[in-house]
Amino acid sequence: MTTTEPLSPISSTMLDAWVTESDVEREPSNLPDGWEMVIGLEVHAELATETKMFSPARNHFGGEPNTNVHPVCLGLPGTLPVVNAKAVELSIKLGLALNCTVQRCVFARKNYFYPDMPKDYQISQYDLPLNAEGWIEVPSGHRVRVERAHMEEDTGKSTHVGESGRIHDAGYSLVDYNRAGVPLLEIVSHPDIRGPEEARAYVAELQAILIATEVSDGKFEEGSLRVDANVSVRKAGTDELRTRCEIKNVNSLRSLGRAIQYEAQRHVDLYEAGDKPVQETRHWDEEGGRTRPGRSKEQAEDYRYFADPDLVPVDPSPEWIEEIRATLPVLPRERRIALRDLGAEPDAAGIAVERGLDELALGAMQAGADPARTMTHVVNNLAVDGAADLDAAKFAELVSMETGGDLTATQAKQILGEMVVSGKSASDLAAEHGFEAMDSSELETMLDAIIADHPDEWARFCDGEKKLQGMFTGQIMKATKGQADGKAIAQLLAKKSSS
Ligand code: MN
Repeated sequence: MTTTEPLSPISSTMLDAWVTESDVEREPSNLPDGWEMVIGLEVHAELATETKMFSPARNHFGGEPNTNVHPVCLGLPGTLPVVNAKAVELSIKLGLALNCTVQRCVFARKNYFYPDMPKDYQISQYDLPLNAEGWIEVPSGHRVRVERAHMEEDTGKSTHVGESGRIHDAGYSLVDYNRAGVPLLEIVSHPDIRGPEEARAYVAELQAILIATEVSDGKFEEGSLRVDANVSVRKAGTDELRTRCEIKNVNSLRSLGRAIQYEAQRHVDLYEAGDKPVQETRHWDEEGGRTRPGRSKEQAEDYRYFADPDLVPVDPSPEWIEEIRATLPVLPRERRIALRDLGAEPDAAGIAVERGLDELALGAMQAGADPARTMTHVVNNLAVDGAADLDAAKFAELVSMETGGDLTATQAKQILGEMVVSGKSASDLAAEHGFEAMDSSELETMLDAIIADHPDEWARFCDGEKKLQGMFTGQIMKATKGQADGKAIAQLLAKKSSS
């Protein structure tokens, strides 16, 4: 075997400058004092190909059992696997999006017996994965290192027919090979995650990248995204790695957070009782809110990995890698940075990108809208259908009318909601509602009338009875049907009572 120089990872000079680790607010420990969590995640993503990893059978979720099959996926003797070029292309694309080094790689056989894997080995990658050493940055700015993202094939699916649906008390089991041989990418993180929230943020970010790059549809509910969490604990401030347990196939972000919290606390309880955990796989019981032991965990040597003699190494050319790099979309992290560069707060930028409202916010800010007001609307008032189709120039006009004092915050919120539905401009809607800027002389005329009706209260207010401020503000609001600006009223009351 010849070795080739690894290619340089995605260039990201602009991005690297943004956040240093010390700027980042880390999640506070959810464990008793003195303990911290050490979490590494293995995520399996099914690739969005037409056909399977090594056969021409269709890669499609939800077909009649055993209809998307081929002799290769059934592991029949005499068949030979052929690598799906599209699967390699998508795998490289994700590797580049995760800042990995894309390198020459070798398929390996991972040997174990499982009824839904009839050839008794899974084709995976071992010591030479396609993508090595990258990172994912979550919205808070914390970076989690990615150790590898390797190609492999999925197994079939067993259904255990019996009361509990588990194998132990099943009368019989059924096997569906539609999923057997579906292309997978296994993305393995370093143990850089320190809490349930960070774990969820990491998986959410990875999911967003998978969807943005169209490498996978990233659907937890259809099993195209599956997470295993390796959890251990240690004394805070040390860098030891203690015995870990692997929680298998957690199938939602919510369960992931709960499972990690439960498991880490279980380890702390064991250590504090003078005991210790054993290395094993465990399953998350959603109803019971706890993990339960599965099989005791194999060591890598139990799998008897060896290079698959049926497949040649894959050695992507630099030209091919560059062609694939050119197809990368603007990634969620770059979209957050674009917003932050114009003055958006990190949390708000994260929410805007998550909701697909970042282009709208960016367009409005580029048209001169105040960043803080713009992002407040995006976060609080635009979590509605159709918001992304709002015209950025019209949105900017609304924000400017508000910051210029022509609309109160309440009026702006109301008009914004109507803009999403009608597509009309802020100024047209303001005119329709009679939301014209109330000039100070108009307000003063109203206040004079109110003072004439309440001379005693006014005298007491001028003498310093500050609690009457609310009463006068309320009267003006009532007279203007809530259209007056609170700040303008306060200024007017202060001016008039001291003159
Ligand atoms: Mn795997």
